[in-house]
Amino acid sequence: AKSTGRGQVKFFNNTMRKKLKTHADIENDLQHGIEHNEFELYFQPIFTINSSEVIGFEALVRWHHPKKGFVPPNDFIPIAETTGQIINLDLHLLDLAAQHISKWHKQGHRFLKVTVNVSSRHFASLDFVAQIHSIYNKYQLPLGSLCLEITESGLIENLELATHIIEGLSPLKVKLCLDDFGTGYSALGYLHQLPIHILKIDKSFIDHLQDSTNPLVEAILSLAQSLQLEVVAEGIETQEQLAILKLTACNYGQGYLKSKPVTASQAIKLINKPL
Ligand code: C2E
Ligand code: CA
Ligand code: CA
Ligand code: CA
Repeated sequence: AKSTGRGQVKFFNNTMRKKLKTHADIENDLQHGIEHNEFELYFQPIFTINSSEVIGFEALVRWHHPKKGFVPPNDFIPIAETTGQIINLDLHLLDLAAQHISKWHKQGHRFLKVTVNVSSRHFASLDFVAQIHSIYNKYQLPLGSLCLEITESGLIENLELATHIIEGLSPLKVKLCLDDFGTGYSALGYLHQLPIHILKIDKSFIDHLQDSTNPLVEAILSLAQSLQLEVVAEGIETQEQLAILKLTACNYGQGYLKSKPVTASQAIKLINKPL
């Protein structure tokens, strides 16, 4: 037993030991995985609510682990965040995403946008702006082709820094999307101070759209409208949810109803025709 102070005693049981071992395993395997190209980006279409036209994709990582097989992001992203490896992983995935963007734009998909998830720890790191500029240069990315998704907490903890970073990215026309909106701090008061461009309404709110619009979703949409932000609804699973969203000012959607995340080659086939 391990004392945690205040008279609490925590037992270091087998489950915990196993968890720790998995954690250490993953930490060791992550670096190896980056070096050996075990990560693949899948792409989930983002479409217009009104006509289901694909305007871009969210890149979502998949890990093909040599021994464990498929490992979902929720099993390793949080660990990479604690160990700090997330910065290397993010950079590796940004590089992969840029390769796809560059190829797709050369194939003539000129207006396609790809949004990449960036951990707040990486976003707030000293070199972030320079790193994004260098990826743009390396792949000669078209202005405005890359969008970055960050969760609320990362931006709000250091508003001044966030503003500085977003300004540093503005020559590249990189758009900033606030992910999982409504779940974290929900510090609505800060929203007008953040130079972001897109709000992504969290799936938990979309789940509640059953037979009518939801006051919370309406509130988020009217807030977004007054701040001139674009809105993406994530996790649309039913026709009913989509029909309700059509009655609102929500611009874009994403979810299993239209498409799960798919491989790059499957993704590109979804462009230029309504889903
Ligand atoms: P997220 O950024 O909120 O991504 C949305 C998650 O919801 C994805 O899970 C996606 O596959 C899933 N999803 C999309 N539509 C639906 C739907 O209609 N129904 C349901 N039930 N789920 C849907 P995924 O790919 O497992 O990713 C989980 C989380 O892992 C992401 O949440 C994100 O936080 C993180 N993540 C994924 N890829 C990356 C990455 O490349 N870099 C970083 N830093 N984080 C990533
Ligand atoms: Ca996301
Ligand atoms: Ca999300
Ligand atoms: Ca999420």
